[in-house]
Amino acid sequence: MMDQAKTILEKTFGYPSFKPFQKEVIKGVLNRQDTVVVLPTGGGKSLCYIIPAILFKGLTIVVSPLISLMEDQIGQLTQTGIPAVCLNSMLTPEAYAHNIRLLQANKVKLLYLAPETLMMQRTLKLLEKLPIDLLAVDEAHCVSEWGHDFRPEYRQVQKFRKKIPHAVVIALTATATPQVRTDILTLFNIPPVNFFMGSFNRDNLFLDVQIKNDPQAQLLNFIKKFPRESGIVYCTTRKSVNMLCDVLTASGYLAKPYHAGLEDDQRRQNQLGFIRDDIQIMVATIAFGMGIDKPDVRFIVQYDLPKNIETYYQQIGRAGRDGLRSDCLLLYSQADTQTITRFILQKEADIQAVEQKKLADMLAFARSELCLRNPLMGYFGESFPGNCQLCKNCRPDQQELTDITLFAQKFLSCVKRTGEIFGANHIIYVLRGSRAKKILQFAHDQLSTYGIGKELTAPEWKFICEQLLAQGLMATTAPHGSLKLTPKAWAVFKGEKSVRAPKFNRTPVFTDKGPAMASCDNELFERLRRKRKFLADQMNLPPYAILTDKTLTELAQIFPSSEESLEHIHGIGAYKKETFGRTILDEIQAYCSENQIDQMDRFKGPKKKKRTRSAADKPPRYQYFGDLFNTGISAQELADKNQIKLTTVLTHLGAYIRGGFVLRETREFIQLSKTNPGTWERVKLAFDEHGTLALKPVFLHLDQEISYDRLHLLRLNYLIQNQAPD
Ligand code: ADP
Ligand code: MG
Repeated sequence: MMDQAKTILEKTFGYPSFKPFQKEVIKGVLNRQDTVVVLPTGGGKSLCYIIPAILFKGLTIVVSPLISLMEDQIGQLTQTGIPAVCLNSMLTPEAYAHNIRLLQANKVKLLYLAPETLMMQRTLKLLEKLPIDLLAVDEAHCVSEWGHDFRPEYRQVQKFRKKIPHAVVIALTATATPQVRTDILTLFNIPPVNFFMGSFNRDNLFLDVQIKNDPQAQLLNFIKKFPRESGIVYCTTRKSVNMLCDVLTASGYLAKPYHAGLEDDQRRQNQLGFIRDDIQIMVATIAFGMGIDKPDVRFIVQYDLPKNIETYYQQIGRAGRDGLRSDCLLLYSQADTQTITRFILQKEADIQAVEQKKLADMLAFARSELCLRNPLMGYFGESFPGNCQLCKNCRPDQQELTDITLFAQKFLSCVKRTGEIFGANHIIYVLRGSRAKKILQFAHDQLSTYGIGKELTAPEWKFICEQLLAQGLMATTAPHGSLKLTPKAWAVFKGEKSVRAPKFNRTPVFTDKGPAMASCDNELFERLRRKRKFLADQMNLPPYAILTDKTLTELAQIFPSSEESLEHIHGIGAYKKETFGRTILDEIQAYCSENQIDQMDRFKGPKKKKRTRSAADKPPRYQYFGDLFNTGISAQELADKNQIKLTTVLTHLGAYIRGGFVLRETREFIQLSKTNPGTWERVKLAFDEHGTLALKPVFLHLDQEISYDRLHLLRLNYLIQNQAPD
């Protein structure tokens, strides 16, 4: 049975291995042992019942407190090819009846219900006739008065459990306090041996704490590192929610408020916008978060000091459920503690003492000079050795800097060896070992620096180049933008000085600091992200239900070129491969040909055992188009015959030249673009200056007068004119 569970994990979900405790829990449940699971947010609790649900013959009932959580789960399950439905008051009568029919026909594996719906007469009657194998009680802390979200109806679930004695029960929560634990175990009569609790350390979160001095500037400064990523800013009052929304909006961010003073409708709409990635930043009072499971929240800012560590931990817990690195910033001031104290003093005396103590613990955490995980984990009764390397105290001022000395040396010496007369593109060709005509013509394939930079992609080298320019190690000279070393470069050459560069979330990260910070091709990531958003909108789903950020990151690292290699990507199971595989592969291929990247599967990470066939085994597609074009067929004809867009043909032909081949001379592109000689001269200068890689700078340079369609044609014309002769 466990073999089958592993197969489902790999084939259906596309995950290479279990997370801590998943295996043990699933094994117990499959052996029909009632179980309690306490794991932190993002710990992967859902699979603990979803995998058994798939393996059991009968139905699994999942009790969940909120409709939004249910819908979210069902969306994700459906996109994984697992039949799941819910019954709740928000469904239309038709949808409700439809779901009932599916259930009666045994076509559903998981049924999601709120406890109120579960205990309704008509639901109980329906369920009497269905074979139920598993009852999963999610967010099980709701049964406990000691929990932070006590729901009396949750305790009724036990009555239902008695009606189905043969079914297994699994209760899951992220709340670890002893009282809550005991309550759950007692209520469902679960023996303590079947209790599983994991570590509460969230090791993908960077923890920063700053004293407020100019909080708005501190906030903006922090957020600018996440130009397109989702994040939440928490503050205590509605007034500051609105104020910060204005500040963020004025700085060009898409931010919306979330607090109890808004109309229900407005709140729901803002929450949905956030989940669907239409709104980047949610500015919220603590009321926000319970109803969402968004896995790709990349940053959390706490603009005011939370009143205790539980709240702090719960709020930062909403970041990085998908396991990717995410950043948390806490801002605090003396005034914050006074505000909280004033609230506390309004309460009853015995509560006052408890809350004061909690506030003191919170403040001690904020002021700690130890590894922050030390007091944090200690608070929850877990000992942590310190030196986490992911908090402000462990990595004081190098949080965002990374060492790029080796890459700098490679780049600088390549500039030197080629005589300091070439631009960035040429240097990158040499470093990456290109067979382009121009390289061979200058015999640059004979240089010692030829091919020594294959470990980075062209965009990553571009980034390095910009850093070296910015740090004054190189300069460009007019008119062709050739790169020259400055005297400062020598110290780097000789190894006397190291070079450090900022590291954004997905710009190249050069040190191997574990999966949370894997490097990938930023531009490809963005392209895939846009595609994902497009698909999600079409299907009326949140983007993460289609593909997760982790999946996109791996795609932009590995550049899969075939359906087989897609199978090895994290999070792509059989269903996703079937549904989105072609689209993904097309995007990657188009990106590679537009950016002269030799598309090769980069399966060499430790996780990947199998090597897959790479695109290099067969001639690239551009060769097919280039060769045909050279026989005299026009680009337009090629497009018509192959039923593809003209720009796609142009892209292939451009790649042909960049691949070192020569295209026949033609006036076709000048004519098609209806360009007169004067304009052509201006366009030529623009390409001289900005290169041919991206059209946007050229488009802007020409005052947006010449459309992208025309520029595609003119770029190819330019490439043809500048290609090395045979
Ligand atoms: P929890 O309910 O414990 O907060 P979830 O069940 O929502 O966590 O899982 C968090 C994320 O981790 C989800 O995106 C889920 O798909 C992913 N995940 C779960 N199990 C694994 C695994 N074994 N390997 C990789 N990712 C996993
Ligand atoms: Mg969960």
